[in-house]
Amino acid sequence: AAEETTFRELHPRSAELAARAHGSLLAGVPMPWMTRWPGAFPVFVDHAEGARLVDVDGVSYVDLCLGDTGAMTGHALPQITEAITARAGRGVTTMLPGEDAVWVGEELARRFGLPAWQLAMSATDANRFVLRFARHLTGRPRVAVMDWCYHGTVDESLAVLDGDRVVPRPGALGPQVDVAVTTAVVPFNDLDALDRRLAQGDVACLLMEPALTNIGIVLPEEGYLAGVREITRRHGVLLINDETHTMCAGPGGATRAWDLEPDLIVVGKAIAGGIPAAAYGMTAEIAARLAGPMLGHEIDVAGVGGTLTGNPLATAAIRATLSSCLREEDFAGAVPLAERFTAGVAGVIEAAGLPWHVQRLGCRAEYWFCPPPRDGAAAASAVDEEIEAFFHLWALNRGVLLTPFHNMALFSPAHTEADVDRHTEVFAGAVEALTA
Ligand code: PLP
Repeated sequence: AAEETTFRELHPRSAELAARAHGSLLAGVPMPWMTRWPGAFPVFVDHAEGARLVDVDGVSYVDLCLGDTGAMTGHALPQITEAITARAGRGVTTMLPGEDAVWVGEELARRFGLPAWQLAMSATDANRFVLRFARHLTGRPRVAVMDWCYHGTVDESLAVLDGDRVVPRPGALGPQVDVAVTTAVVPFNDLDALDRRLAQGDVACLLMEPALTNIGIVLPEEGYLAGVREITRRHGVLLINDETHTMCAGPGGATRAWDLEPDLIVVGKAIAGGIPAAAYGMTAEIAARLAGPMLGHEIDVAGVGGTLTGNPLATAAIRATLSSCLREEDFAGAVPLAERFTAGVAGVIEAAGLPWHVQRLGCRAEYWFCPPPRDGAAAASAVDEEIEAFFHLWALNRGVLLTPFHNMALFSPAHTEADVDRHTEVFAGAVEALTA
Protein backbone atom coordinates (compact mmCIF):
# COMPACT_ATOMS: atom_id res chain seq x y z
CA ALA A 1 0.00 0.00 0.00
CA ALA A 2 2.88 2.38 0.80
CA GLU A 3 4.38 1.72 -2.63
CA GLU A 4 0.99 2.43 -4.27
CA THR A 5 0.82 5.78 -2.48
CA THR A 6 4.34 6.69 -3.57
CA PHE A 7 3.46 5.68 -7.12
CA ARG A 8 0.43 7.99 -7.18
CA GLU A 9 2.41 10.87 -5.69
CA LEU A 10 5.11 10.51 -8.33
CA HIS A 11 2.70 10.39 -11.28
CA PRO A 12 -0.03 13.08 -11.21
CA ARG A 13 0.11 13.69 -14.99
CA SER A 14 0.00 9.99 -15.80
CA ALA A 15 -3.00 9.73 -13.45
CA GLU A 16 -4.73 12.54 -15.37
CA LEU A 17 -4.00 10.93 -18.74
CA ALA A 18 -5.12 7.53 -17.46
CA ALA A 19 -8.44 9.01 -16.32
CA ARG A 20 -8.87 10.73 -19.72
CA ALA A 21 -7.89 7.56 -21.60
CA HIS A 22 -10.74 5.66 -19.99
CA GLY A 23 -13.07 7.97 -21.95
CA SER A 24 -11.94 6.68 -25.35
CA LEU A 25 -9.64 3.66 -25.06
CA LEU A 26 -10.81 0.26 -23.94
CA ALA A 27 -9.55 -0.19 -20.36
CA GLY A 28 -7.66 3.10 -20.77
CA VAL A 29 -4.92 1.66 -22.99
CA PRO A 30 -4.38 1.17 -26.74
CA MET A 31 -3.34 -2.49 -26.30
CA PRO A 32 -4.50 -4.95 -23.61
CA TRP A 33 -1.04 -5.96 -22.30
CA MET A 34 -0.52 -2.35 -21.18
CA THR A 35 -2.97 -2.97 -18.35
CA ARG A 36 -0.54 -5.52 -16.94
CA TRP A 37 1.80 -3.02 -15.27
CA PRO A 38 1.67 -3.02 -11.48
CA GLY A 39 0.31 0.24 -10.06
CA ALA A 40 -3.17 1.70 -10.43
CA PHE A 41 -2.43 2.84 -14.02
CA PRO A 42 0.48 2.58 -16.46
CA VAL A 43 2.97 5.46 -16.52
CA PHE A 44 2.50 7.43 -19.72
CA VAL A 45 5.68 7.90 -21.70
CA ASP A 46 7.07 11.20 -22.90
CA HIS A 47 10.16 9.89 -24.63
CA ALA A 48 12.85 7.23 -24.50
CA GLU A 49 16.47 7.50 -25.50
CA GLY A 50 19.30 4.97 -25.19
CA ALA A 51 18.81 3.18 -21.86
CA ARG A 52 16.50 5.86 -20.45
CA LEU A 53 12.73 6.29 -20.51
CA VAL A 54 11.13 9.51 -19.31
CA ASP A 55 7.47 9.69 -18.38
CA VAL A 56 5.05 12.61 -18.68
CA ASP A 57 5.74 13.58 -15.06
CA GLY A 58 9.41 14.00 -15.94
CA VAL A 59 10.43 10.91 -13.97
CA SER A 60 13.43 9.23 -15.61
CA TYR A 61 13.96 5.47 -15.48
CA VAL A 62 16.76 3.05 -16.23
CA ASP A 63 14.77 1.08 -18.77
CA LEU A 64 15.38 -2.65 -18.33
CA CYS A 65 12.09 -3.53 -20.07
CA LEU A 66 13.10 -2.06 -23.44
CA GLY A 67 9.67 -2.62 -24.91
CA ASP A 68 9.73 -6.30 -23.86
CA THR A 69 12.71 -6.74 -26.25
CA GLY A 70 11.28 -4.58 -29.08
CA ALA A 71 13.96 -2.00 -28.22
CA MET A 72 16.78 -4.48 -27.53
CA THR A 73 19.19 -2.06 -29.20
CA GLY A 74 18.33 0.77 -26.77
CA HIS A 75 15.90 3.55 -27.72
CA ALA A 76 16.07 6.09 -30.52
CA LEU A 77 19.54 5.20 -31.76
CA PRO A 78 20.63 7.77 -34.37
CA GLN A 79 21.55 5.05 -36.90
CA ILE A 80 17.97 3.76 -36.89
CA THR A 81 16.27 7.13 -36.55
CA GLU A 82 18.21 8.51 -39.52
CA ALA A 83 17.42 5.49 -41.69
CA ILE A 84 13.68 5.59 -41.05
CA THR A 85 13.53 9.36 -41.39
CA ALA A 86 15.32 9.17 -44.73
CA ARG A 87 13.02 6.39 -45.92
CA ALA A 88 9.90 8.23 -44.75
CA GLY A 89 10.62 10.99 -47.26
CA ARG A 90 11.00 8.50 -50.14
CA GLY A 91 7.77 6.53 -49.89
CA VAL A 92 6.92 4.09 -47.14
CA THR A 93 4.78 1.52 -48.93
CA THR A 94 4.87 0.22 -52.49
CA MET A 95 3.92 -3.50 -52.73
CA LEU A 96 7.20 -3.91 -54.61
CA PRO A 97 10.64 -4.94 -53.33
CA GLY A 98 13.63 -2.60 -53.05
CA GLU A 99 17.36 -3.04 -52.60
CA ASP A 100 16.99 -2.99 -48.79
CA ALA A 101 14.92 -6.18 -48.98
CA VAL A 102 17.74 -7.97 -50.84
CA TRP A 103 20.30 -6.77 -48.28
CA VAL A 104 18.03 -7.93 -45.45
CA GLY A 105 17.56 -11.40 -46.97
CA GLU A 106 21.32 -11.79 -47.44
CA GLU A 107 22.09 -10.65 -43.89
CA LEU A 108 19.46 -12.88 -42.26
CA ALA A 109 20.75 -15.85 -44.26
CA ARG A 110 24.32 -15.11 -43.17
CA ARG A 111 23.39 -14.73 -39.50
CA PHE A 112 20.98 -17.58 -38.99
CA GLY A 113 22.34 -20.11 -41.49
CA LEU A 114 19.08 -20.61 -43.41
CA PRO A 115 19.05 -19.56 -47.07
CA ALA A 116 15.51 -18.32 -47.86
CA TRP A 117 13.63 -15.55 -46.04
CA GLN A 118 10.28 -13.77 -46.00
CA LEU A 119 9.13 -10.74 -44.06
CA ALA A 120 6.07 -10.28 -41.85
CA MET A 121 4.51 -7.43 -39.86
CA SER A 122 4.99 -8.98 -36.42
CA ALA A 123 6.24 -12.18 -34.86
CA THR A 124 2.63 -13.28 -34.43
CA ASP A 125 2.14 -12.85 -38.15
CA ALA A 126 5.33 -14.73 -38.98
CA ASN A 127 4.35 -17.61 -36.69
CA ARG A 128 0.95 -17.88 -38.34
CA PHE A 129 2.60 -18.01 -41.76
CA VAL A 130 5.15 -20.70 -40.87
CA LEU A 131 2.44 -22.88 -39.32
CA ARG A 132 0.46 -22.59 -42.52
CA PHE A 133 3.50 -23.51 -44.62
CA ALA A 134 4.27 -26.46 -42.32
CA ARG A 135 0.76 -27.88 -42.69
CA HIS A 136 0.94 -27.35 -46.44
CA LEU A 137 4.31 -29.10 -46.73
CA THR A 138 3.53 -32.10 -44.53
CA GLY A 139 -0.18 -32.48 -45.24
CA ARG A 140 -0.66 -32.96 -41.49
CA PRO A 141 -3.27 -30.99 -39.56
CA ARG A 142 -1.79 -30.39 -36.13
CA VAL A 143 0.93 -28.18 -34.70
CA ALA A 144 2.93 -28.95 -31.54
CA VAL A 145 3.99 -26.35 -29.00
CA MET A 146 5.54 -26.39 -25.54
CA ASP A 147 3.37 -26.26 -22.46
CA TRP A 148 3.11 -22.61 -21.27
CA CYS A 149 4.78 -21.27 -24.39
CA TYR A 150 3.93 -17.90 -25.87
CA HIS A 151 4.20 -17.22 -29.61
CA GLY A 152 1.94 -14.18 -29.89
CA THR A 153 -1.78 -14.28 -30.53
CA VAL A 154 -1.60 -17.35 -32.76
CA ASP A 155 -4.81 -19.27 -32.02
CA GLU A 156 -3.33 -22.76 -32.17
CA SER A 157 -0.55 -21.85 -29.74
CA LEU A 158 -2.83 -20.54 -26.98
CA ALA A 159 -3.01 -23.98 -25.40
CA VAL A 160 -1.69 -25.74 -22.30
CA LEU A 161 -1.79 -29.25 -20.87
CA ASP A 162 -4.33 -30.22 -18.25
CA GLY A 163 -3.13 -33.70 -17.38
CA ASP A 164 -3.12 -35.39 -20.80
CA ARG A 165 -5.70 -33.03 -22.28
CA VAL A 166 -4.92 -30.00 -24.46
CA VAL A 167 -7.01 -27.06 -23.22
CA PRO A 168 -7.13 -23.32 -23.94
CA ARG A 169 -4.52 -21.26 -22.15
CA PRO A 170 -6.03 -19.85 -18.95
CA GLY A 171 -7.27 -16.32 -19.51
CA ALA A 172 -7.32 -16.56 -23.32
CA LEU A 173 -10.42 -14.86 -24.70
CA GLY A 174 -12.83 -17.42 -26.03
CA PRO A 175 -14.43 -19.44 -27.29
CA GLN A 176 -11.43 -19.89 -29.52
CA VAL A 177 -10.47 -22.48 -32.12
CA ASP A 178 -10.65 -25.97 -30.66
CA VAL A 179 -7.06 -26.44 -29.51
CA ALA A 180 -7.82 -30.08 -28.67
CA VAL A 181 -8.11 -30.54 -32.45
CA THR A 182 -5.47 -28.10 -33.76
CA THR A 183 -2.69 -28.51 -31.24
CA ALA A 184 -0.43 -30.99 -29.48
CA VAL A 185 1.22 -29.71 -26.30
CA VAL A 186 4.35 -31.20 -24.75
CA PRO A 187 6.32 -30.25 -21.63
CA PHE A 188 9.66 -28.47 -22.14
CA ASN A 189 12.78 -30.50 -21.23
CA ASP A 190 10.95 -33.83 -21.64
CA LEU A 191 12.18 -35.85 -24.63
CA ASP A 192 10.14 -38.99 -23.88
CA ALA A 193 6.87 -37.02 -23.88
CA LEU A 194 7.83 -35.41 -27.19
CA ASP A 195 8.75 -38.74 -28.78
CA ARG A 196 5.49 -40.35 -27.62
CA ARG A 197 3.36 -37.49 -28.92
CA LEU A 198 5.03 -37.12 -32.31
CA ALA A 199 4.85 -40.90 -32.86
CA GLN A 200 1.09 -40.46 -33.39
CA GLY A 201 1.94 -39.10 -36.86
CA ASP A 202 -0.53 -36.21 -37.03
CA VAL A 203 1.85 -33.32 -36.23
CA ALA A 204 3.15 -31.02 -38.98
CA CYS A 205 5.64 -29.02 -36.95
CA LEU A 206 7.00 -28.22 -33.55
CA LEU A 207 7.01 -24.47 -32.85
CA MET A 208 9.27 -23.70 -29.92
CA GLU A 209 11.55 -21.19 -28.25
CA PRO A 210 14.99 -22.80 -27.71
CA ALA A 211 14.65 -21.50 -24.13
CA LEU A 212 11.27 -20.57 -22.69
CA THR A 213 11.20 -16.82 -22.11
CA ASN A 214 7.56 -16.01 -21.56
CA ILE A 215 6.95 -17.79 -18.28
CA GLY A 216 10.21 -16.46 -16.96
CA ILE A 217 13.42 -17.82 -18.43
CA VAL A 218 13.61 -21.65 -18.44
CA LEU A 219 16.81 -22.95 -20.02
CA PRO A 220 17.10 -26.24 -21.95
CA GLU A 221 18.83 -29.05 -20.09
CA GLU A 222 22.05 -30.57 -21.45
CA GLY A 223 21.28 -32.56 -24.62
CA TYR A 224 17.61 -31.54 -24.76
CA LEU A 225 17.72 -29.48 -27.97
CA ALA A 226 19.82 -32.11 -29.77
CA GLY A 227 17.22 -34.67 -28.70
CA VAL A 228 14.39 -32.46 -30.00
CA ARG A 229 16.12 -32.26 -33.37
CA GLU A 230 16.65 -36.03 -33.60
CA ILE A 231 13.05 -36.83 -32.59
CA THR A 232 11.42 -34.28 -34.90
CA ARG A 233 13.52 -35.54 -37.84
CA ARG A 234 12.69 -39.16 -37.09
CA HIS A 235 8.95 -38.37 -37.13
CA GLY A 236 9.06 -36.09 -40.21
CA VAL A 237 8.02 -33.08 -38.11
CA LEU A 238 9.34 -29.65 -39.12
CA LEU A 239 11.21 -27.87 -36.33
CA ILE A 240 10.58 -24.12 -36.02
CA ASN A 241 12.72 -22.00 -33.70
CA ASP A 242 10.86 -18.89 -32.62
CA GLU A 243 13.79 -16.57 -31.87
CA THR A 244 11.70 -13.50 -31.21
CA HIS A 245 12.97 -13.23 -27.62
CA THR A 246 15.93 -15.62 -27.69
CA MET A 247 17.57 -13.14 -30.06
CA CYS A 248 19.02 -11.89 -26.76
CA ALA A 249 21.40 -14.90 -26.91
CA GLY A 250 23.48 -13.28 -29.67
CA PRO A 251 23.46 -11.85 -33.20
CA GLY A 252 22.21 -15.16 -34.65
CA GLY A 253 19.90 -15.91 -31.71
CA ALA A 254 20.06 -19.19 -29.81
CA THR A 255 20.23 -21.01 -33.15
CA ARG A 256 23.76 -19.79 -33.82
CA ALA A 257 24.80 -19.48 -30.18
CA TRP A 258 23.98 -23.16 -29.60
CA ASP A 259 24.57 -24.47 -33.12
CA LEU A 260 20.99 -25.64 -33.70
CA GLU A 261 19.57 -26.89 -36.99
CA PRO A 262 15.89 -25.89 -37.23
CA ASP A 263 13.94 -26.20 -40.49
CA LEU A 264 12.45 -22.74 -40.03
CA ILE A 265 13.27 -19.70 -37.89
CA VAL A 266 11.07 -16.80 -36.83
CA VAL A 267 12.54 -13.49 -35.65
CA GLY A 268 10.55 -10.42 -34.70
CA LYS A 269 10.46 -7.41 -32.40
CA ALA A 270 14.12 -6.41 -32.01
CA ILE A 271 15.22 -6.92 -35.61
CA ALA A 272 13.61 -3.70 -36.89
CA GLY A 273 14.72 -1.53 -33.97
CA GLY A 274 11.14 -1.18 -32.75
CA ILE A 275 9.40 -0.60 -36.08
CA PRO A 276 6.74 -3.31 -36.62
CA ALA A 277 8.40 -6.05 -38.66
CA ALA A 278 9.43 -9.68 -38.42
CA ALA A 279 11.02 -12.30 -40.64
CA TYR A 280 11.05 -16.03 -41.14
CA GLY A 281 13.63 -18.21 -42.80
CA MET A 282 13.67 -21.75 -44.12
CA THR A 283 15.98 -24.48 -45.41
CA ALA A 284 16.88 -24.80 -49.08
CA GLU A 285 14.76 -27.94 -49.26
CA ILE A 286 11.63 -26.17 -48.02
CA ALA A 287 12.34 -23.17 -50.24
CA ALA A 288 12.64 -25.46 -53.26
CA ARG A 289 9.27 -27.02 -52.50
CA LEU A 290 7.58 -23.62 -52.10
CA ALA A 291 9.27 -21.24 -54.52
CA GLY A 292 8.56 -23.11 -57.78
CA PRO A 293 4.84 -23.61 -57.11
CA MET A 294 4.57 -20.00 -55.86
CA LEU A 295 6.19 -18.62 -59.00
CA GLY A 296 4.13 -20.99 -61.14
CA HIS A 297 0.97 -19.77 -59.37
CA GLU A 298 0.27 -23.37 -58.28
CA ILE A 299 0.06 -22.33 -54.62
CA ASP A 300 -2.62 -19.83 -53.76
CA VAL A 301 -0.60 -17.58 -51.48
CA ALA A 302 -3.69 -16.09 -49.84
CA GLY A 303 -3.08 -16.82 -46.17
CA VAL A 304 0.53 -15.67 -46.05
CA GLY A 305 1.82 -12.11 -46.31
CA GLY A 306 -0.13 -8.86 -46.22
CA THR A 307 -0.38 -5.53 -47.99
CA LEU A 308 2.11 -3.75 -45.74
CA THR A 309 4.39 -6.77 -45.27
CA GLY A 310 7.97 -6.06 -46.35
CA ASN A 311 7.20 -2.36 -46.77
CA PRO A 312 10.15 -0.05 -47.45
CA LEU A 313 9.99 1.64 -44.01
CA ALA A 314 10.17 -1.66 -42.14
CA THR A 315 12.82 -2.98 -44.50
CA ALA A 316 14.99 0.12 -44.02
CA ALA A 317 14.57 -0.23 -40.25
CA ILE A 318 15.69 -3.88 -40.31
CA ARG A 319 18.70 -2.96 -42.45
CA ALA A 320 19.74 -0.14 -40.14
CA THR A 321 19.28 -2.33 -37.06
CA LEU A 322 21.19 -5.32 -38.37
CA SER A 323 23.95 -3.27 -40.02
CA SER A 324 24.72 -0.95 -37.11
CA CYS A 325 23.14 -2.40 -33.94
CA LEU A 326 22.50 -5.97 -32.73
CA ARG A 327 25.92 -6.96 -34.08
CA GLU A 328 28.57 -9.13 -32.42
CA GLU A 329 30.19 -6.04 -30.90
CA ASP A 330 26.86 -4.77 -29.55
CA PHE A 331 26.23 -8.05 -27.73
CA ALA A 332 29.81 -7.86 -26.46
CA GLY A 333 28.77 -4.58 -24.80
CA ALA A 334 25.41 -5.76 -23.44
CA VAL A 335 26.08 -9.34 -22.24
CA PRO A 336 28.67 -8.38 -19.55
CA LEU A 337 26.07 -6.00 -18.10
CA ALA A 338 23.57 -8.86 -17.81
CA GLU A 339 26.33 -10.95 -16.19
CA ARG A 340 26.98 -8.15 -13.71
CA PHE A 341 23.25 -7.98 -13.00
CA THR A 342 23.12 -11.74 -12.39
CA ALA A 343 26.13 -11.65 -10.05
CA GLY A 344 24.72 -8.68 -8.11
CA VAL A 345 21.28 -10.22 -7.65
CA ALA A 346 22.71 -13.64 -6.80
CA GLY A 347 24.90 -12.00 -4.15
CA VAL A 348 21.89 -10.32 -2.50
CA ILE A 349 19.87 -13.57 -2.61
CA GLU A 350 22.73 -15.54 -1.09
CA ALA A 351 23.39 -13.00 1.65
CA ALA A 352 19.70 -13.07 2.58
CA GLY A 353 19.73 -16.90 2.60
CA LEU A 354 16.71 -17.10 0.30
CA PRO A 355 15.84 -20.11 -1.95
CA TRP A 356 15.54 -17.75 -4.95
CA HIS A 357 17.66 -17.75 -8.05
CA VAL A 358 18.59 -15.62 -11.03
CA GLN A 359 18.61 -16.85 -14.61
CA ARG A 360 20.32 -15.35 -17.67
CA LEU A 361 20.20 -15.83 -21.41
CA GLY A 362 22.67 -13.59 -23.27
CA CYS A 363 21.81 -9.98 -22.49
CA ARG A 364 18.56 -10.77 -20.68
CA ALA A 365 18.16 -11.92 -17.09
CA GLU A 366 15.47 -12.52 -14.55
CA TYR A 367 15.06 -13.38 -10.90
CA TRP A 368 12.84 -16.16 -9.63
CA PHE A 369 11.35 -16.24 -6.16
CA CYS A 370 11.91 -20.01 -6.02
CA PRO A 371 14.48 -22.61 -7.19
CA PRO A 372 14.82 -23.02 -11.00
CA PRO A 373 11.75 -24.68 -12.58
CA ARG A 374 12.51 -27.16 -15.39
CA ASP A 375 9.37 -26.77 -17.49
CA GLY A 376 6.53 -24.38 -18.22
CA ALA A 377 3.97 -25.91 -15.87
CA ALA A 378 6.44 -25.86 -12.96
CA ALA A 379 7.28 -22.26 -13.86
CA ALA A 380 3.61 -21.26 -14.07
CA SER A 381 2.81 -22.74 -10.68
CA ALA A 382 5.93 -21.15 -9.16
CA VAL A 383 4.99 -17.65 -10.30
CA ASP A 384 3.91 -15.53 -7.35
CA GLU A 385 2.20 -12.54 -8.89
CA GLU A 386 1.97 -10.64 -5.62
CA ILE A 387 5.68 -10.72 -4.89
CA GLU A 388 6.52 -10.00 -8.54
CA ALA A 389 4.25 -6.94 -8.46
CA PHE A 390 5.83 -5.76 -5.20
CA PHE A 391 9.36 -5.93 -6.63
CA HIS A 392 8.26 -4.32 -9.83
CA LEU A 393 6.53 -1.39 -8.18
CA TRP A 394 9.34 -0.97 -5.66
CA ALA A 395 11.86 -0.70 -8.50
CA LEU A 396 9.64 1.58 -10.58
CA ASN A 397 9.22 3.97 -7.65
CA ARG A 398 13.02 4.15 -7.48
CA GLY A 399 13.63 4.81 -11.15
CA VAL A 400 14.19 1.28 -12.48
CA LEU A 401 11.78 -0.18 -15.02
CA LEU A 402 11.63 -3.99 -15.23
CA THR A 403 9.31 -5.86 -17.58
CA PRO A 404 5.89 -6.30 -16.02
CA PHE A 405 6.19 -9.98 -16.91
CA HIS A 406 8.31 -11.87 -14.37
CA ASN A 407 10.59 -8.93 -13.61
CA MET A 408 12.91 -9.59 -16.50
CA ALA A 409 15.78 -7.23 -17.25
CA LEU A 410 17.25 -6.65 -20.68
CA PHE A 411 20.54 -4.87 -21.35
CA SER A 412 21.63 -2.91 -24.39
CA PRO A 413 25.04 -1.41 -25.11
CA ALA A 414 23.50 1.94 -24.06
CA HIS A 415 23.28 0.75 -20.44
CA THR A 416 26.14 1.29 -18.02
CA GLU A 417 27.58 -0.57 -15.04
CA ALA A 418 26.11 2.21 -12.87
CA ASP A 419 22.64 1.29 -14.22
CA VAL A 420 23.20 -2.32 -13.21
CA ASP A 421 24.45 -1.34 -9.77
CA ARG A 422 21.48 0.98 -9.27
CA HIS A 423 19.19 -1.98 -9.87
CA THR A 424 21.17 -4.20 -7.46
CA GLU A 425 20.89 -1.54 -4.78
CA VAL A 426 17.14 -1.20 -5.35
CA PHE A 427 16.72 -5.00 -5.34
CA ALA A 428 18.65 -5.27 -2.06
CA GLY A 429 16.37 -2.60 -0.57
CA ALA A 430 13.27 -4.55 -1.61
CA VAL A 431 14.65 -7.78 -0.13
CA GLU A 432 15.41 -5.95 3.11
CA ALA A 433 11.92 -4.41 3.23
CA LEU A 434 10.34 -7.79 2.59
CA THR A 435 12.38 -9.79 5.04
CA ALA A 436 12.56 -7.14 7.83
N1 PLP B 1 7.06 -15.14 -30.23
C1 PLP B 1 7.57 -14.97 -29.01
C2 PLP B 1 8.58 -15.96 -28.50
C3 PLP B 1 7.18 -13.89 -28.22
O1 PLP B 1 7.70 -13.74 -27.01
C4 PLP B 1 6.23 -12.99 -28.73
C5 PLP B 1 5.79 -11.84 -27.93
O2 PLP B 1 6.13 -11.66 -26.79
C6 PLP B 1 5.73 -13.19 -30.00
C7 PLP B 1 6.17 -14.28 -30.73
C8 PLP B 1 4.74 -12.26 -30.60
O3 PLP B 1 5.33 -11.05 -30.89
P1 PLP B 1 4.39 -9.85 -31.37
O4 PLP B 1 3.49 -9.57 -30.20
O5 PLP B 1 5.34 -8.75 -31.65
O6 PLP B 1 3.64 -10.32 -32.56
